[in-house]
Amino acid sequence: MKLDSMPRISLSALPTPLDEAPRLARALGLRKLYIKRDDCTTLGMGGNKVRKLEFLMADALAKGANVVMTDGGPQSNHARLTAAAARKVGIERCILFLGGPSFERFDGNLLLDVVLGAEIRFMPDATVQDMEDAMAAEAEKLRGESQTPYVIPIGGSSPVGALGYVSAIRELATQLSDEDKAPLIFFAVGSAGTLAGAALGCRLFLPEAEVVGVSVTGKAHSWLERAARVASGAAELLGVDEKFDQSDIRIEDSYFGLRYGVPSEAGNAAVIEVAQTEAIILDPVYTGKAMSGLIDMARRKLIDTDRTVIFLHTGGAPSLFAFEETFRGMAKMEIMN
Ligand SMILES: *Cc1c(COP(=O)(O)O)cnc(C)c1O
Repeated sequence: MKLDSMPRISLSALPTPLDEAPRLARALGLRKLYIKRDDCTTLGMGGNKVRKLEFLMADALAKGANVVMTDGGPQSNHARLTAAAARKVGIERCILFLGGPSFERFDGNLLLDVVLGAEIRFMPDATVQDMEDAMAAEAEKLRGESQTPYVIPIGGSSPVGALGYVSAIRELATQLSDEDKAPLIFFAVGSAGTLAGAALGCRLFLPEAEVVGVSVTGKAHSWLERAARVASGAAELLGVDEKFDQSDIRIEDSYFGLRYGVPSEAGNAAVIEVAQTEAIILDPVYTGKAMSGLIDMARRKLIDTDRTVIFLHTGGAPSLFAFEETFRGMAKMEIMN
């Protein structure tokens, strides 16, 4: 097992807290609920991508990179944290290829990208394939100019990036008492690298746990194969003989609403419920939708409510500020004349 000898750069104070959430647990009829606070990783306003970037940036430096590139939507947490990580390790240029609906304001993550000094290539309504093609072309061009670009795939979800979540599960295992070591672990699935890492991490360090990914991007079938492949790839990097196929991966796919990036009513209600029970801030794109899955499954008794449940908070709160119209109607305000 080579986890401790893989190239890694510290980008956060660790471990992140494991908070009990007794008020939310009571509201959902759960015996015990913890929230693993990976929103509190300490780089650039935090989130799950920090753990992946600890391994990805070490790899970039080992390869002599002086430019990093990645892609995502205009409110990508991963893009913001890649820009932050590049600053932290002293890589001068970070180019973000952002595709999606046109935007009017530089707010939420996009504002942080600006503050961090990332170069933004906005590609209106581009697909992931379009963005990856554009990155490959840019990388080719830079190599021609004797630069050394390092391209990070969307979400940082390569086998190298997934090592961050193998390591996170090892950390979590040390925070749990024996009676909590067979938990259900819920979290949002976007590009499935977190899921891949957590699946492998549980095999190695928390074998009685069950990982439940909640898709925020679409139907499960498109991600099962990818998650299994990335998990197997990460195992290979670590030199452990663990193989994954689709049947080893669980994704719930009834909670993404209309599509990625469009808030759902249940997701918004989850943001409100968690804020007003535990004072923990979720977001409407990832963690709110994932929590809406946990809430629904707990209330309908689709999960064993006596089992310890852990919600892995993957971050994302900066994007809340880009959804002012979604929440402003809830303001309890009187105008005093
Ligand atoms: C990227 C992201 C996820 C999903 O992680 P993947 O590894 O891409 O599946 C979940 N929550 C937040 C806040 C994210 O930014």
